[in-house]
Amino acid sequence: MKQSLLIDKYGRQLNYLRLSVTDRCNFRCYYCMPEEGINFAPRKELMTFDEMLLLSTTFCNLGISKIRITGGEPFVRNGIMPFLKKLSVVKGLNEITVTSNGTLSAKYQAELLQMGIRKINISLDSLSRERFEHITRRDTFDSVYAGIFKLLDNGFEVKLNCVVAENKNIQDIVPFIELTKNHSLSVRFLEEMPFNGSDGSQVQSDWDYKRIYGHIEQYYPEINRLISDANSTSVNYKISGYKGSFGIIPSFSRTFCGTCNRIRLSATGELRTCLYGPPVINLRDLLRKGASIDDLEQAILHAVSQRERDGYAAEVASKGAIHTSMSVLGG
Ligand code: SAM
Ligand code: SF4
Repeated sequence: MKQSLLIDKYGRQLNYLRLSVTDRCNFRCYYCMPEEGINFAPRKELMTFDEMLLLSTTFCNLGISKIRITGGEPFVRNGIMPFLKKLSVVKGLNEITVTSNGTLSAKYQAELLQMGIRKINISLDSLSRERFEHITRRDTFDSVYAGIFKLLDNGFEVKLNCVVAENKNIQDIVPFIELTKNHSLSVRFLEEMPFNGSDGSQVQSDWDYKRIYGHIEQYYPEINRLISDANSTSVNYKISGYKGSFGIIPSFSRTFCGTCNRIRLSATGELRTCLYGPPVINLRDLLRKGASIDDLEQAILHAVSQRERDGYAAEVASKGAIHTSMSVLGG
C-alpha cells in the first residue's frame, strides 16, 4: 500500500476520505436535520462532479486509498453513477464504499458491482415500520428493508448503521442482533451526536457505548469480541453461532481519535480534518479561483499539519458551533 503523505503532527496517516456529494436528502431523520426549514446550499455552491473528481484525484496523489461516498443521500444527486464510474478508475484509489439510506441504492446494484463497489452501509434505525417512520419522517421501511436483502443476495458486504436513542429504538437493539443470526451482515450501534442542524439545543443521548453494551449483555451472556482493523471506529462483537456480527461506535464519546485516519470534504468544498472541528479551508473556492494542482496539494498538506489531537480539542476550535447537520458534514 502506498504510504500517505498526509501525516498529522501526532503521526497519524490519513488515507481515508469521506466525500459528501450532496447536502440534500429524501429523508428527514430527527438526529440529522429538522423536518422543515432546512437551509440547503444553493445549487451553484455545490461542487460539480468534475470538481469532485479533480479533488479526489489530488487526494489520491497524496495517498488517500479509500473514499466513502456519503451525503446527504448520495443517490438523490443526478449524475452520481457516471461520477462513480470515473472515480472507480482513479489511480491509487483501492476502494470506494457508499453510505446510503437505502431508498434508491437498490436500483443501482448491478452498476455498482460492475465498477467494483461492493461495500455499502445502510442506515436503519428500527425494525418496526412505525418507529422507522417516526425516526426518518418517511414511510419507506418496507422498500428499504427489502433492499437490504437484495444487496446481500447480490454479494454486497452490508453494514447497517443504527443511531441508538431513548424513546426511539431501544426495543430494536436485540432484534437487530437477532437479524445477524441468519444473515451475514454487521449491525453497528452508534451514539447520537449533536450534528442535527438545530440552532443549538444540546441533544445528548444517555445511550453511550457502555450503556449500549450493558443492555446487550443482559440478553447475551456470551459475547465474543472480534479483532478489528487498526483504524476501526467500531468495537466489534459476535454471538457464537450467528452468521453476522455487531459493533458499537462511540461516535460521541470519541474513544477512537488516536487512530483516526479520516478526512472529510463537504459537498460545498469545505475540508474538515475532524468531524467535530470547523472547516479548515474551502477547496472549491481555491479551485474556482484558478488554483493549480500544486496549490491544492499544499493547501491540503497545510490543513493536515494543523489537525487537532482529538474530537474534544477540535470541538473547542469550533467554538461550540457543532450543530451543523451531518448531511452537510458528510457523516
Ligand atoms: N443519507 C445517508 C445515510 O443516512 O446513510 C448518508 C449520509 S448520513 C449523514 C451518514 C450517517 O450519519 C448515517 O448512518 C446516519 O445515521 C449518521 N448520522 C447522521 N446524523 C447523526 C447524528 N446526529 N448522530 C449520529 N449519527 C448520525
Ligand atoms: Fe438523510 Fe442520512 Fe441525514 Fe437521514 S441521516 S436525513 S438519510 S442524510
